[in-house]
Amino acid sequence: MEYNKKNIENVNVANKKVLVRCDFNVPQDDTGEITADQRIVESLPTLKYLLQHGAAVIACSHLGRPKGTFNEKYSLKPVAVRLGELLHMNVSMASDVIGEDAKAKAAALQPGQIMLLENVRFHAEEEKNDPAFAKQLSGLAELFVNDAFGTAHRAHASTAGVADYLPSVCGYLIQKEINVIGKALFSPRRPFVAVLGGAKVSDKIGVIDNLINICDTIIVGGAMAYTFKKACNRPIGISRCEEDKLELAKELMLKAVGLGVHFYLPGDHIVGDHFASDARPYIMQHIADGMMGMDIGPSTIARYVKEIKFAGTVIWNGPMGVFEFPSFAEGTKAVARAMAKTDAISIVGGGDSAAAAEKFGFADRMDHVSTGGGASLEFMEGLALPGIACLEDY
Ligand code: AMP
Repeated sequence: MEYNKKNIENVNVANKKVLVRCDFNVPQDDTGEITADQRIVESLPTLKYLLQHGAAVIACSHLGRPKGTFNEKYSLKPVAVRLGELLHMNVSMASDVIGEDAKAKAAALQPGQIMLLENVRFHAEEEKNDPAFAKQLSGLAELFVNDAFGTAHRAHASTAGVADYLPSVCGYLIQKEINVIGKALFSPRRPFVAVLGGAKVSDKIGVIDNLINICDTIIVGGAMAYTFKKACNRPIGISRCEEDKLELAKELMLKAVGLGVHFYLPGDHIVGDHFASDARPYIMQHIADGMMGMDIGPSTIARYVKEIKFAGTVIWNGPMGVFEFPSFAEGTKAVARAMAKTDAISIVGGGDSAAAAEKFGFADRMDHVSTGGGASLEFMEGLALPGIACLEDY
């Protein structure tokens, strides 16, 4: 799905009440203290633009999984405090989402002021995309801005439903995802290399299936490589393998051959005899009985790094090994380093690959680190994202 959507700069926001769906789903410790405020920081450019251009901003988000009932543990109050500190202004917090307090505060809100609604998932209607709930939520505002890419693959009331009742555009975060990932998928600078890893083939089937039609090269690592290796009758010892996906793995590799796509599997491995950080690492080309592949080996790293170096566009989703264990982190680190150094357009899908790029200190040297895990996967699968599809075309 290719998108050409209006953004906040394409509409008049002055003196309008603007409902902004943000992704404030931040991690917290047991006391409710926010442990990483990156998502709040990332929302600032859109919020500041709206405030500086005379909008009255009604921000909303989900936080955690309160399962449709009010639960203080999942209140967005700590987010309102942190957002106020970052914006250097008062952020008034409503005690509900579509109730009397939210309505009164929204009605009194002046241009250049901002308020935050309570957690939209305090209502079960949110995730059901209930039209009556969406209508009431939209009734607080005159314009809808979606800037929560992390939930753009969900058709919820605050991510898509409200667009049935309000003119709707995207904020800067979603605009950047459309520009960078969209451009890579629809008019990539070539050669276009996809680096795919992670735990399961089953999670990535759709992505592989779609990218085979678009990419010049597909590089595979992580646990899912062993399902492909077994499908090629290679020894995999006790490595993770999805037996029920062996046929599918063969089909995907045949499809790649048919389309002239280079499909690379690891040729050597870092193995251990059990799945733990204290497992002793060995390099093996042919995985011995009783051994488990936990990372790609040095020759494979050299081959993969070369592909990344000479690429025009690289998209990466899924770690090359068990990067959480230092002895099995080198493959993932090497891919992240190569992506940071390459002249290619470097795009990191959200989730674990983004966490790994961050952990090893390469994230800020990538062209783009997606703000959504599931959403970026579905984008790469070629699926329509309801939270973007609902916005007005440019
Ligand atoms: P995913 O969420 O599918 O991207 O998978 C990420 C997880 O896959 C990480 O927690 C890695 O530790 C894990 N992983 C990567 N390679 C392997 C491997 N060879 N064996 C077991 N787990 C792996």
